[in-house]
Amino acid sequence: MGKALIIGCGAVASVAIHKCCQNSAVFDEICIASRTKSKCDALKAKLEKTTKTKIKTAQVDADNVEDLISLINDFKPDLVMNLALPYQDLTIMDACLATKTNYMDTANYEPLDTAKFEYKWQWAYRKRFEEAGITALLGSGFDPGVTGVFSAYAMKHYFDEIEYIDILDCNAGDHGYPFATNFNPEINIREVSAKGSYWEDGKWVETEPMEIKRVYDFPEVGKKDMYLLHHEEIESLALNIKGIKRIRFFMTFGQSYLTHLKCLENVGMTSIVPIDFEGKKIVPLQFLKAVLPDPASLGPRTKGKTNIGCIFKGKKGGVEKTYYVYNVCTHEECFAEVGSQAVAYTTGVPAMIGAMMLLTKTWNKAGVFNIEEFDPDPFMDALNKWGLPWQENFNPELVD
Ligand code: NDP
Repeated sequence: MGKALIIGCGAVASVAIHKCCQNSAVFDEICIASRTKSKCDALKAKLEKTTKTKIKTAQVDADNVEDLISLINDFKPDLVMNLALPYQDLTIMDACLATKTNYMDTANYEPLDTAKFEYKWQWAYRKRFEEAGITALLGSGFDPGVTGVFSAYAMKHYFDEIEYIDILDCNAGDHGYPFATNFNPEINIREVSAKGSYWEDGKWVETEPMEIKRVYDFPEVGKKDMYLLHHEEIESLALNIKGIKRIRFFMTFGQSYLTHLKCLENVGMTSIVPIDFEGKKIVPLQFLKAVLPDPASLGPRTKGKTNIGCIFKGKKGGVEKTYYVYNVCTHEECFAEVGSQAVAYTTGVPAMIGAMMLLTKTWNKAGVFNIEEFDPDPFMDALNKWGLPWQENFNPELVD
């Protein structure tokens, strides 16, 4: 049915590529292109015996638009799946515009020198994508991604107006290390050491990092401490969900993680400001990344479950309603299936599904869109089919 160029070959990309190869009816041919080609070749060697999907590999510097354009012209994909890092979003979008190729990603653009998640840079491409007749699907991971689909689904089927959304991201997995991050350490630490914020009554309310703590009793997991963070889907959901008064995002963290993070912060290791070291400029956070365990290596060690979902409160026919929809994943099961732990799995599966929505033209409109702007039903069906089944509760415990 279609050809996808997949940029990046890290933790998330590896899962998405496994899933594309399970879905050869849609993914006839893929090209895995990344900075380190040997990783792409190793994955190709592992998968090509198991799939009808034809696999090519390439080296690419995704910071370089010309490099990307020549790769796209060479492979002629129907879609570029950006599974590299948020820093590459705009160069890849530029190359897609130049070659009139559809685009998707899992995280919004972030400049290297400012830890600030905002859609403004990517939303600025709306008119150009529309005029070029191509689609950009932004944020097709889990959060952002499935959380937006859950919101669109709740809106479509259960509410006239949604006033409150709480997004709860729980990882109860244990990898046995005193400190490691479950996805790219640089991106993860930038996210959790930034100030928190939530959307209320039409404006952002800012908090100190980890200032707001709640305890929640997660289905199939139990009681966990969770902390309010800024998260990128809040920005688009605030615009796209009718009647919204407040959106908050909570993520669980264990005490050991928080203690290590505080210590690293206190000694300056999480800073993104370059320092001089033996005559060379280094960014402390990038150095820290180099000494921490590679998230891809956590797969075989991680045990336990994740539970990510959204709690909605609003009205239908004038009557107040609540609704909780969530997915539970088991780290060991994800590893047995695709060789990765659940954090990469819960991102890589929706990346494949988003790509499938575009390649099959199930989602087909020109412009730049966040995921909740499309019909959620086919995506919700695909979640059940491709490894992320969801569950519903119409009388959930609410977060105060
Ligand atoms: P990894 O660090 O494991 O992988 C990133 C990959 O991108 C690596 O293969 C890396 O190459 C490649 N890459 C980096 N820079 C370039 C470049 N300039 N040119 C070409 N390739 C490059 O990250 P993850 O897999 O953990 O994360 C991937 C994306 O998923 C990130 O944007 C992250 O923010 C997002 N994410 C989204 C989530 C969601 O739910 N929406 C949740 C988790 C992550 P090399 O191997 O050479 O380093």
